[in-house]
Amino acid sequence: MKKENNPSKVTKLTQNKEEGQTRIIFLDYVSGKPVDPRVLEAMNPYHREIFGNPSSLHIFGDPPVEAMEDARKKVADLIGAKDPKEIVFTSGATESNNLAIKGVAFRNQNKGKHIIISAIEHISILNITKYLEKFGFKTTRVGVDKYGTVELDKLEKQIKPETLLISINYANNEIGTIEPIKEISKIAHDQNISLHVDAVAAEGLIPIDVQKDGIDLLTLSSNDIYGPRGIGALYIKTGTMIEPIIHGGGQERGLRSGTEDIPGIVGLGKAAEIAKNEMEKDSTGIQKMRDRIINTVLGTIDHSYLNGHPTQRLPNNAHFRFDYIEGEAILLGLNMKGIAVSTGSACAAKRLEASHVLIATGLLKEEAHGSLELTLGKYNTEEDVDYFLEVLPQVIDRLRKLSPLTPKREE
Ligand code: PMP
Repeated sequence: MKKENNPSKVTKLTQNKEEGQTRIIFLDYVSGKPVDPRVLEAMNPYHREIFGNPSSLHIFGDPPVEAMEDARKKVADLIGAKDPKEIVFTSGATESNNLAIKGVAFRNQNKGKHIIISAIEHISILNITKYLEKFGFKTTRVGVDKYGTVELDKLEKQIKPETLLISINYANNEIGTIEPIKEISKIAHDQNISLHVDAVAAEGLIPIDVQKDGIDLLTLSSNDIYGPRGIGALYIKTGTMIEPIIHGGGQERGLRSGTEDIPGIVGLGKAAEIAKNEMEKDSTGIQKMRDRIINTVLGTIDHSYLNGHPTQRLPNNAHFRFDYIEGEAILLGLNMKGIAVSTGSACAAKRLEASHVLIATGLLKEEAHGSLELTLGKYNTEEDVDYFLEVLPQVIDRLRKLSPLTPKREE
């Protein structure tokens, strides 16, 4: 893989000096990604040289407008949007989710006040719909099967005449399960309901085509495709009625006021272009490494299981469960050896609660607590995988020897 771009060479991350250990391996790409150097290069001129405000009528206003429209086209191309005008730039995925759900809800409430989401949506979706309850909206959380796949018959049964929106993630950010979006779209559109899809976990890893998939609103984040943080986008299909949630000077066709972050937008555009051109190659390499991890772990560590779908899963995701020990303990054991992994969503990491995603797939709380999430990225190497596979069994073995839950071997 592209070693010359490997950000771990320049990182000031907690260099673990214990036992002379300096190797650092990042297997938590879902929590954040280093910006691709080509993206930084594209952004650079827009900090000092091309600094104008796109709303200005003088000559300084034109180049940023051109750059912004070029970026809009690149984002539209990544997701197969018909018209770049269908892309609205936001500050990130949380804002895009807010604009999509509150925007559709407030604008179309005369139709009804019922929203359907899946039980495994990101916390931002859960909390937006909770907030909407204050305004009389009701939300149904539709269940998933043991793999985390939305159950279509259950979804269909939850639809009411007053249902105005269905919101389902393209793929789940914790367990990597890819949802049957085309089928969900058909169910929604047969009943004249809009479909919003949070594509943050899937973008840049698997092809997304809003027209073929039948998506009305799609949330994108820049950092999840190696772009800068603090910028994102919402795809809004032409004809979808939506109310702005940020009011001001009327930028972004009145849908998202506020002076545009041109360097961020240029960065997102460049990241989208790279993702479109290199996704297939990068995802093939990532999946090969990921499959080696899954096969070796399941094949060599007793009482280990894979969470999520065996095949309908994102190429970067490996999510395990180990009997008798806690995920946090494994995480800390690996961290001591310089390997960064996760036990679930970084957004909920501090609460130390069992993941709502794992619970929705039917795991018991103690099983959910024994889980470990690895997400690979384009800067990982086969050597990273070698090292991880060498260290993990040692960590698990040590913890199981200490755990009172581990059954004693018969002498
Ligand atoms: N949706 C999903 C699926 C996510 O994983 C995240 C977090 N990366 C978000 C939304 C929110 O993203 P942000 O915190 O960048 O707004």
